[in-house]
Amino acid sequence: MAAVYNLLLSKSAFTQHVDARSEEPLASTHTGRMSVPSVPTAATDPVSPDRDQAALARLVAGGGVVVLTGAGLSTESGIPDYRGPDGTRRVTPMQYGEFVASGDARQRYWARSYIGWQRFTRAEPNRGHRAVAVLQRAGLAPAVVTQNVDGLHQAAGAVDVVELHGNLDQVVCLTCGDLTGRATLHERLAEANPGFVDLVLGVTPDGSRVTSQIRPDGDIVLDDTVARRFHLPRCLVCGADTLKPDVVFFGESVPKAKVERCFRLVDDATSLLVLGSSLAVMSGYRFVRRAARSGVPVAILTASASRGDPEATLRLHTPLGATLDRLLGDLGLS
Ligand SMILES: [Zn+2]
Repeated sequence: MAAVYNLLLSKSAFTQHVDARSEEPLASTHTGRMSVPSVPTAATDPVSPDRDQAALARLVAGGGVVVLTGAGLSTESGIPDYRGPDGTRRVTPMQYGEFVASGDARQRYWARSYIGWQRFTRAEPNRGHRAVAVLQRAGLAPAVVTQNVDGLHQAAGAVDVVELHGNLDQVVCLTCGDLTGRATLHERLAEANPGFVDLVLGVTPDGSRVTSQIRPDGDIVLDDTVARRFHLPRCLVCGADTLKPDVVFFGESVPKAKVERCFRLVDDATSLLVLGSSLAVMSGYRFVRRAARSGVPVAILTASASRGDPEATLRLHTPLGATLDRLLGDLGLS
């Protein structure tokens, strides 16, 4: 049976680990430290995009901004979000428990991740990443926290980025803890799997038909019979077949020290600016709740509605790149 997986989301799927939809709704507290106009509901008082944009510029101009980013910021770089525009999940991510318990699951994961990595490494930062780096250099946004594992903030020039879910450029052995660079592992995967890319593309030595298919958006339909032909190298130190990208999978927790550091950043912030995260899971949403509880204004820029909208002082559901470009212009930072 063919399964639909998102290659690049064999990674960005990991960008969320706890689906906390059952969380109790939080009473909204919008007692901001700054004088930031709150946005009335569209039903009662439609607000012009210009007014929203001006409010955003005033908020950021105050400095002390903690930026929290999600998968939506990297979509312009060709890394698809794993949720569709309506917020529903488009792919079934690998669960940590399944990955740890099943050699077959690890084989399936690495088979599609091997294909996806080649595209992933070609991704470059987009204007959204560059805008964040500009705000940081201008001293307006000292802290950047991301749910993404693609390293594109750093590639754009941001520094001291807190990667809540780690970074795909490292691989860890779950048995002995040895760390390996992902590029190095990719070379080993390639050596162990000559012809696998052709197989995925449907080119088989014996002419048999396979259903694997790479889609233009980076998704892959990978027949399980193809995945089972994939050879996963073992750890070079201990020999176990338990290599895992050193990122937080669904079902794992963000390290506590990292969470605490982010809480302190939010506590000390003048405002929290969320870029491209639906906030559907607790790993990012908890920081919005923390800010709202302590009266730190929250601005959310997403292509569509986010879970944090009720806590937000300002919501812009607009294309991120263009909105951030305009923000830089408004701040004289273009
Ligand atoms: Zn090992």
